[in-house]
Amino acid sequence: MDYFKKIKEAALAILPKEAEVSSIDFEGPEIAIYTKNPKIFFENEALVAKLAFELKKHINIRTDKSLLCSLEEAKKKIMEIVPQEAEIKKLYFNAPFSEVVIEASKPGLVIGKNGETSKQIILQTGWTPNIIRAPTSKSKILAGIREFLHKHANERKKFLHNVAKHIYREVEVKKLWVRLHTIGGFREVGRSCLLLETPISKIMIDCGINVANPEEAYPYLDALDFSLNELDAVIISHAHLDHCGMLPYLFRAGYKGPVYCTAPTRDLMALLQFDYIDVLVKEGKEPPYSEKDVKEAVKHCIVRNYREVTDIAPDVRLTLHNAAHILGSASVHLHIGEGAHNIVYTADFKYGFTRLFDNVDMKYPRLETLIIESTYGSKEDILPRRLDAEEKLIQIIRETVQTGGNVLIPVFSVGRAQEVMLVLEGYNRKEPLNAKVYIDGMTKEASAIHTAYPEFLRKTVQRRILQNDSPFTSELFHEANSADRDKILQEGSAIILASSGMLTGGPSVEYLYKMAPNPDNTLIFVGYQGEGSLGRKIQRGLRTIPYVENGKTKALEIKMRVETVEGFSGHSDRNELINYIRNLKPRPKRILVGHGNKNKCIELSRYISMKFKINSIAPQNLDAFRLY
Ligand code: ZN
Repeated sequence: MDYFKKIKEAALAILPKEAEVSSIDFEGPEIAIYTKNPKIFFENEALVAKLAFELKKHINIRTDKSLLCSLEEAKKKIMEIVPQEAEIKKLYFNAPFSEVVIEASKPGLVIGKNGETSKQIILQTGWTPNIIRAPTSKSKILAGIREFLHKHANERKKFLHNVAKHIYREVEVKKLWVRLHTIGGFREVGRSCLLLETPISKIMIDCGINVANPEEAYPYLDALDFSLNELDAVIISHAHLDHCGMLPYLFRAGYKGPVYCTAPTRDLMALLQFDYIDVLVKEGKEPPYSEKDVKEAVKHCIVRNYREVTDIAPDVRLTLHNAAHILGSASVHLHIGEGAHNIVYTADFKYGFTRLFDNVDMKYPRLETLIIESTYGSKEDILPRRLDAEEKLIQIIRETVQTGGNVLIPVFSVGRAQEVMLVLEGYNRKEPLNAKVYIDGMTKEASAIHTAYPEFLRKTVQRRILQNDSPFTSELFHEANSADRDKILQEGSAIILASSGMLTGGPSVEYLYKMAPNPDNTLIFVGYQGEGSLGRKIQRGLRTIPYVENGKTKALEIKMRVETVEGFSGHSDRNELINYIRNLKPRPKRILVGHGNKNKCIELSRYISMKFKINSIAPQNLDAFRLY
């Protein structure tokens, strides 16, 4: 019997007659049950839990169309039901899902104690509330994405239905085999891309771009011997371009299927992809895709929370796990062929303390093959203790601002920027820095997106955001625009966080030009400086840099103090990589090492084989492995 029918019958068998189910729909890997009696689901909460458990699916309860009241009336009622203190910022209806989207500053008050307020919304209006958090500071990109998804709700509904049809299609049971192809990002950093194949599924994991190397920028997609629309699913681990920069290209090339990632990854990657197009266009280069393709990718995202098990193909189940690298970053667990083979792809991860995130997930139900990063994989790659790094950073800042000097910290707009913000905010609370911190460039947007997803942050940060004491909106922080820069620097005692992190362009370079001649100022590097970047050259001692003024190139002398503070990395250092493997449960049978320079990958993989007696290898791009 057809799978849909089977699930529907199983659901109906669990539900009592009074549930008055009018239809059961598949929305991608989730199930929507439309009812004429939503009340019964509130009175008997175990019912939804039982359905979810028995059917192994996420269940959405929606009211039958006949119970939906008019949009105006519904809006009026909702404003009456929800207390004003919830601060509803936006309210709109997604008719195809019988859903009212309520964006509020305090979503907890829209939900109410024991969900009482949201229940009232359903009972009195028929519309099911989808409650989302408004960011504490404005984010154009977040607003844009939410509006875009709303505008395309009809299309999304159809898309999700088709995805479900594809996942739960009837397949001929063949003898299982599992093969993994390395398409990019092995023995190198950049263009990460993997392809997993079974007799019935093809799944791509990450699709990155190497921004620093135009010669070898893209993964080997042209080596695939099938067309991209034959892919069943794409999974994106996190929003850095070396993991997702090529995703929109897949849509340009004909892919129309789902992209699985977390909600913050969806939003942050759109931000970074738009910026990538912008940068290329400004440099007079042709981007591999357009803004339309980025939007197409957003439209096809199916967002998942950490530790939520999801069917993504007839024989593959996906779970995303906290990787503690950047907001929404995930390690990917794949359960293949009813558990015949299990893979964990760590992607970029931090096995060590960070102020932003809870500890990385270490326990998996089953695991045979581990694919691990090795950015800091060589035995020299030992980062200083986090606390020492923080104290050194604060000390340099205090020395500079005491004399009225300004501090420039070039940061990656997603990740390091917010980590450094939390450090500054924390120390300032203990003993005031007597300085203003200015956030410039894309970092503003990225930080605002952080405040919309507190559930992805460390519990202590989460609590503060929920209690309206968000560290990101502390009085310490000020937004800066290009027009304010001179004034900020004149005032003195300013700490400036600006992208790009490697001084390859953007506001950080603008500040550098203005600040470099003054020996009272300090430039502090807190992140990795890529080979060939201006940041790396200055770090190595370059003190005269070219500077273009009125079309003429001049030489600019760097007289400001230059410091490097290591230890803020979002990657695990060598010791952390080793300890991760040691403490990982269960112990993998095979380890593939990637995402590191050639020597680091090889060195780490040899050490693993020797130390843990686990079959370990550092593949090249375009290798293929039979895993099962
Ligand atoms: Zn990354």
